[in-house]
Amino acid sequence: MKYISTRGEAPALNFEEVLLTGLARDGGLYLPEFWPVFSVDEISAMRGLSYQDVAFKVMSPYVCPEIPEDDFKGLIDEAYSSFRHDAIVPLSQVGNNEWILELYHGPTLAFKDVALQLLGRLFNYVLTKRGEKITIVGATSGDTGSAAIDCVQGSARADIFMLHPKGRVSDVQRRQMTTVIEDNVHNIALEGDFDNCQALVKALFNDLEFRDQINLSAVNSINWARVMAQIVYYFTAAIALGAPDRKISFSVPTGNFGDVYAGYIAKQMGLPVEQLVVATNVNDILSRTLSNGEYKVGETIPTISPSMDIQVSSNFERLLFNIYDGDGAEIRNLMENLKQGGLFTISDAQLSRAKESFDATRVSEEDTKATIDEVFRAGGKSIDPHTAVGVNAARTLWRDKTTPMVSLSTAHPAKFPEAVKEVTGTHPDLPPHMADLFEREEKFDILANDLSALKQYILENI
Ligand SMILES: *Cc1c(COP(=O)(O)O)cnc(C)c1O
Repeated sequence: MKYISTRGEAPALNFEEVLLTGLARDGGLYLPEFWPVFSVDEISAMRGLSYQDVAFKVMSPYVCPEIPEDDFKGLIDEAYSSFRHDAIVPLSQVGNNEWILELYHGPTLAFKDVALQLLGRLFNYVLTKRGEKITIVGATSGDTGSAAIDCVQGSARADIFMLHPKGRVSDVQRRQMTTVIEDNVHNIALEGDFDNCQALVKALFNDLEFRDQINLSAVNSINWARVMAQIVYYFTAAIALGAPDRKISFSVPTGNFGDVYAGYIAKQMGLPVEQLVVATNVNDILSRTLSNGEYKVGETIPTISPSMDIQVSSNFERLLFNIYDGDGAEIRNLMENLKQGGLFTISDAQLSRAKESFDATRVSEEDTKATIDEVFRAGGKSIDPHTAVGVNAARTLWRDKTTPMVSLSTAHPAKFPEAVKEVTGTHPDLPPHMADLFEREEKFDILANDLSALKQYILENI
């Protein structure tokens, strides 16, 4: 498979190059040249297979034979052996024809493990083969950081620098990052918000000289391999509930648009997806854009679902590329408007194409809490605030109740215990492997929101 940039000016790359590169050199994001499509029979044949076997079938057109099939299978098996549930991502029923997909049984208790456990193994495999080392720099609003650190900690092939907005991630989230004290792990608390963190990382990528000097790489969801790994669970969940003979709908708590975009890809690959609900908290740039076509950056508001406290939603550029039929010049134009004036407007024709695939709504803090409460009362199940945003939006926008609705459960409730306890009265416990998290020693540095200070810090600590 060849990969092309959304901005049309960077060279086409193969899978291994895209994996290591992250952001394209023209500032765009990489996408495969075409979507591999499965027939109804091929999807039916996935029934009863393990998660790992479906993962191989769904991802191999993007990866193999560049990585030999048996090697890729081995990496998939290893990656998901770190999950604490045999089904890897089990479904759990929360209402009539209504389900949550528990994506949080990986090592750091958030859905990001699903992609990053695989990504870490892919990095090691490819870098070892090439005899290379990389520097990973990432920005996190909470969960990416710990999942990324977990997947490369101790690697001889990678240094990782992780920026989080100081004081804006939960104690559990921070400690999951800062208590990893391997020499190749460098945690930075930035004096700023998540968008400041993300802007610094983007600026590093756009500094081509520095980028080459440190062999910079990304684990944020701008990395194609992450989006790719997330396509898999749309298939396993839909097939478990009757696809391809039946359509399935999904609701996705959304920040950077990576996860729900993976659902869009699953649909392009032949999965019968009826609705894809983009569920945002009050940081609602995406639900506003999908309603009136205007992508306008506002102030980030802290919420009880902090992993979605985002105003600039990077992966949305990938959807723009699709609805503008791969017109890189048009994407460059929109992005230039965003840079100059803080907004761009999608044309009516393109907006209606986006609306064919996505429904969107924003969920207030009160409604998020009310949904945690409803789900707990109905079946005794604790859900975290991100999941609750998804379930609430699903209940608002679900058109046909005969179509199963699956809300993606993106974090374990114990990652956000305060909000859950406030509503349900029950403190969700951390699983045994993390029970001593609050006794472990922390290691991190505080940096100003300043590009040159960050560069210097990286050079000194590599
Ligand atoms: C990252 C994250 C999200 C948002 O996912 P995107 O792919 O950025 O849209 C939602 N919930 C949780 C718990 C997360 O960690």
